[in-house]
Amino acid sequence: MQEFAASAIWTICAGAINILEAMIVPILKYGSPELKTMSSPVERFDAELEKIAKNMLETLYGAPGIGLAAPQIGINIQLATIDLSVGEDPSQLIILCNPQIISTEGEQKSDEGCLSIPDFSDVVTRPRKMEIKALNLHGEEVRYEADDLLARCFSHEIDHLNGILFIDRLSPLKRNLIRGKIKKLAKAGEW
Ligand code: ZN
Repeated sequence: MQEFAASAIWTICAGAINILEAMIVPILKYGSPELKTMSSPVERFDAELEKIAKNMLETLYGAPGIGLAAPQIGINIQLATIDLSVGEDPSQLIILCNPQIISTEGEQKSDEGCLSIPDFSDVVTRPRKMEIKALNLHGEEVRYEADDLLARCFSHEIDHLNGILFIDRLSPLKRNLIRGKIKKLAKAGEW
């Protein structure tokens, strides 16, 4: 899976993104202040932004996962990378800068996890359909209409940019249960 993902990145980069050195960077875990911080809009669509996005993709595919937001690597800008195919299908790669929700419809409940809260998951209610607009890495407007898993992913990543984690959307009881387990892990040096 990882080798496949890596080749997909380069295909994408040869087209839409300049080829720059990319590396897997550490993903911040629950408890890091960056995860609770509101991120600032992207203002400069330059090589530095591309480099951050490429590192995020490399990190996302290496994890592996389907979505990663910049605050998860300690950069509080409104940038998120999403790929439901985990690098297998370049057409599914979505990069969102400054995403805005245009409309939502319905509800879906499904088990959800987060790369910043590894080994925990719970049922989270999200919109069933979502229409969003954002800017791509060149600063051009892009629009997406999503349902099911992609809508869930958009909602989860946009939450990250607002300092919200999936456990913030659970009942206080469930949230405290997970927090308690994380605290124990942290005490044992395992978080
Ligand atoms: Zn997440």
